Amino acid sequence: MSRFTEFNLSPELCRALSKLGYENPSPVQSRVIPKALQGKSLVCQSETGSGKTHSYLVPMIEMTDVNLSRLQNIVICPSRELARQVFDFAFAFTKYFPKLKVRLYSSEADVSQNKEGVNVPPHIAIGTPGRLKEILSDSYCFDLHGVRRVVLDEADMLLELGYFEDIDDVYQKLPESVQTMVFSATMNTELKCRLERYIGSEFLFQGEKDKTSSRVAHHFVDIKHQGVFEALRSFLTVRKPYFALVFASTKEMVKKTQSFLKENGIDSVMFSGDLDQRERKQAIRRIRSNQYSVVVCSDLLARGIDLEDVSDVISLDLPSDSSYYFHRAGRTGRFDKTGDSWIFYNADSLGKALELASQGFAYDCNILKKDSLVRNPTGLEKNALPAKKRTFSEEQIREVKKAKAEAKSDKVKPGYKKKQKMAVEKVKNKFRRQAIQKSIKAKKDARYAEKARRKAERDAAK
Ligand code: AMP
Repeated sequence: MSRFTEFNLSPELCRALSKLGYENPSPVQSRVIPKALQGKSLVCQSETGSGKTHSYLVPMIEMTDVNLSRLQNIVICPSRELARQVFDFAFAFTKYFPKLKVRLYSSEADVSQNKEGVNVPPHIAIGTPGRLKEILSDSYCFDLHGVRRVVLDEADMLLELGYFEDIDDVYQKLPESVQTMVFSATMNTELKCRLERYIGSEFLFQGEKDKTSSRVAHHFVDIKHQGVFEALRSFLTVRKPYFALVFASTKEMVKKTQSFLKENGIDSVMFSGDLDQRERKQAIRRIRSNQYSVVVCSDLLARGIDLEDVSDVISLDLPSDSSYYFHRAGRTGRFDKTGDSWIFYNADSLGKALELASQGFAYDCNILKKDSLVRNPTGLEKNALPAKKRTFSEEQIREVKKAKAEAKSDKVKPGYKKKQKMAVEKVKNKFRRQAIQKSIKAKKDARYAEKARRKAERDAAK
């Protein structure tokens, strides 16, 4: 499917999409829109930045009867920032569909403002689970018999934040035939069980293949003995990113990083759970104003929020659950753009870096010096661990011991020590060869991945 016009959408909606700058559907939109238009429930694996919001908004708007003054669609989001973002995308359509009513229900929106709408229900209600539950269960609120579609956006995060109780309550008030569309970056057994209650046991999930976007290049950066703040300063000076998100995994670290940058004359915006609601709103506004090229943030910003043109993501440390790293990295390389994600590490944090590196994605290794960033062809492990400290696996130790024992004869013959040494050396050489082969293979894989990434970039640019 190459154009929205091929989806059998109304000419008004095609025109609106074109005016909003959307001519060609993204892969996730091509996959979801036709199925959604058939009224089918679905579960879709989707990374943010893939165009998933419009993959449900487009069919939703197409199927909404704007002449009917009834709530017809509910979009449930795990954070007020994401709810606001979805609301803004949906609200943009009201310019072309003046009768379409969209409303935001989150702690960000004023409650009385929400309740004013009681007499005129919106066609699309977008909000966070708690607020939606509150509004929808209010006796003087809406008639829910007209609800046709529910979207659970970022379902894995809804589960992680314990929102499914509220969602269950919302569902209890809805007609049985409601169409449910679920969007989630990851899927696990618990989430699957939860979802089966709403959509039955047969559903489509596109698998985990998109853990990393092919448009993001991942780089490990050995910061050696520089402290992490100094390293950040050097990095920003060397790299001069167009728009960088600097992630730290604790609120304290976010705060300290921003103070350090400030002391060193680097302007930045801070975003973390430390900010109250008003400050968070203000920070998002400042971030979106394009006046700052550096945002220091916690993982709160790693999920769902669509920031345009993030060129670089920097992880000063890694989150305790390393899979969260991919949410950070996903802030760049959005839609059809490319981006770079940089992971700082040193000998102390090498363990976590290795754990992440083992998750099957292409990366390169670099060393950050005071005034340059250089490729480290020896790879992650070798660089940070001096050769002397290298440890051998149990199996390797066993094999060396065995070779030594076998080379020892009962009678001490001349030259037996030399023989023993040679036998041990033979075994060690075998391990070295294996390690070299492994490293060549890893480099080859990384080269292929890089080639594929470049090709995808070229294809996207065509
Ligand atoms: P997501 O967070 O996955 O919904 O991605 C949203 C980003 O993709 C926003 O910046 C949208 O404006 C953009 N986007 C969505 N669909 C399209 C499209 N078909 N063509 C171009 N940009 C799109």
